[in-house]
Amino acid sequence: MKAHDGMYIGGRWRPAAGPDTIAVVNPADEQVIAHVPAGTAEDVDAAVRAARAAFPGWAATAPAERAAGIARLRDVLVARADEIAETVTAELGAPLAMSQTVHAGVPVLVAGSYAELAASYSFEEKIGTSTVLLEPVGVVGAITPWNYPLHQVVAKVAPALAAGCTVVLKPAEDTPLTAQLFAEAVDEAGLPAGVFNLVTGLGPVAGQALAAHEDVDLVSFTGSTAVGRQIGATAGAAVKRVALELGGKSANVILPSADLAKAVKVGIANVMSNSGQTCSAWTRMLVHKDQYEEAVALAAAAVAKYVPGERVGPLVSAKQQQRVRGYIEKGVAEGARLVAGGPAAPLERGYYVSPTVFADVTPEMTIAQEEIFGPVVSMIEYADEDDALRIANGTVYGLAGAVWAGDEAEAVAFARRMDTGQVDINGGRFNPLAPFGGYKQSGVGRELGPHGLSEYLQTKSLQF
Ligand code: NAP
Ligand code: MG
Repeated sequence: MKAHDGMYIGGRWRPAAGPDTIAVVNPADEQVIAHVPAGTAEDVDAAVRAARAAFPGWAATAPAERAAGIARLRDVLVARADEIAETVTAELGAPLAMSQTVHAGVPVLVAGSYAELAASYSFEEKIGTSTVLLEPVGVVGAITPWNYPLHQVVAKVAPALAAGCTVVLKPAEDTPLTAQLFAEAVDEAGLPAGVFNLVTGLGPVAGQALAAHEDVDLVSFTGSTAVGRQIGATAGAAVKRVALELGGKSANVILPSADLAKAVKVGIANVMSNSGQTCSAWTRMLVHKDQYEEAVALAAAAVAKYVPGERVGPLVSAKQQQRVRGYIEKGVAEGARLVAGGPAAPLERGYYVSPTVFADVTPEMTIAQEEIFGPVVSMIEYADEDDALRIANGTVYGLAGAVWAGDEAEAVAFARRMDTGQVDINGGRFNPLAPFGGYKQSGVGRELGPHGLSEYLQTKSLQF
């Protein structure tokens, strides 16, 4: 695979400060496909200086002009969609069809939405006798995970640029090639030098240096709760803005009046998508006790269609494969019933995990409480609606969820009582403008749409 051996800083590719590199591995066949530089604090500092230098000019650029720049960037992402999809498949392992529709497709929608929002958003408002100016926060340090390599980048960079901020990105070590392609797209779109900068590298080195850099005004992080906690503490100590998009353990609540077969089928598909590596996946399926065994049989039939190496890709790395298999072993040890899958690797090569369904899961079990981040569904039985609500809300997380019922009003009434940031009603529809983010330990702040844009703005009120 094509890779740059430098960093994209100040509008050009330049040599990395140090000699170290990171090997990029294709998780489907375990082969090394490229190397990228492992950035140091020195690279981060150069990138932050470039972003700072570009900030006053970009902040002063008319919103319509920023909108035009983001629209050009969207157009490049469209033109290079095939290359993006192939790269995501090579370094993440997603089946090519999934890479085309989701990994290459969704960022186009999100970039497009911010091209429109930059042009239409009111960066000035009247409150009584005051005029309130909505101004860009400044230099943004963006740290992203590997699970949606381009989406996670665009969901931060597009609103930041729309707001008038400039950005330094540290992408996940496992998926740096997609991030390099994004930098190429920024360059091709002709955005001003320094508005976007890329430093590839390791989290504890380059990521840590970016989060702690004194000239970064806002840190936007997506990833594990453990690292998010650290980044939040660092940002808090420096009194800088922080946005954290962390883990989830979302509930798929199937009420007795629902179309059970559809709810189970869509619920399984939701978790198997991207090999279960989706923070908002509905990994706990909650079913009424009278329908439980029927739902278990439906789930077993549904999951059989997800064949590893065909419809389901590998996990991103050997580390993630080990982690997920460990959780499956733990589920068995704690007494859950394996309906499908199990800890054994389904293929000899590649970091695959068997699509797994557990029944007889109790709400306190580890597999019902902790984020597994793999193709594993935990089916939990509830006695009545209050019990379902208590179980649904009974984790430290609150990122997403689903409710199925015979009519929408019944599902909405239940959704109102859920402690979570997003709920899909009877399946829902993807809306790139809907705010995305967590209640409780699933995070701080929101991404996407106008709510995502406002994260990158601060207010100045003028009194007359
Ligand atoms: P992670 O370590 O939190 O990685 C997320 C990003 O933070 C990566 O760019 C990572 O760099 C960077 N990072 C790591 N340590 C850092 C530090 N001390 N300071 C600054 N940045 C740092 O997540 P992971 O290890 O890839 O995955 C572990 C678990 O996190 C998963 O099993 C899953 O439960 C959860 N996760 C959640 C999401 C989500 O969308 N909410 C996404 C991915 C993972 P490196 O790539 O070099 O580690
Ligand atoms: Mg990590």
